[in-house]
Amino acid sequence: AYVIAEPCIGTKDTSCVEVCPVDCIHPTPDEPDYDRAEMLYIDPEECIDCDACVEACPVDACFAEDQLPDEWTHFAELNARYYAGR
Ligand code: SF4
Repeated sequence: AYVIAEPCIGTKDTSCVEVCPVDCIHPTPDEPDYDRAEMLYIDPEECIDCDACVEACPVDACFAEDQLPDEWTHFAELNARYYAGR
């Protein structure tokens, strides 16, 4: 699955939301309002690894999980944790 990392915090451009073919990108769960959310997360079970969000993101916040920079590997768990309670 793809993962959204630190550059999204405070950015939340939502270009990725518009291009994602499976609508699996959502704002933080405790703040469903896109404008007020801290960042956006990718649902790892819905993501089909299409790479569209990587191209769309203006701040390079989206990564294939195995290409996450070392300092942001924990974002994989953060993204997944958001959706764990479904
Ligand atoms: Fe959505 Fe494709 Fe990005 Fe996965 S890789 S989050 S399916 S746009």
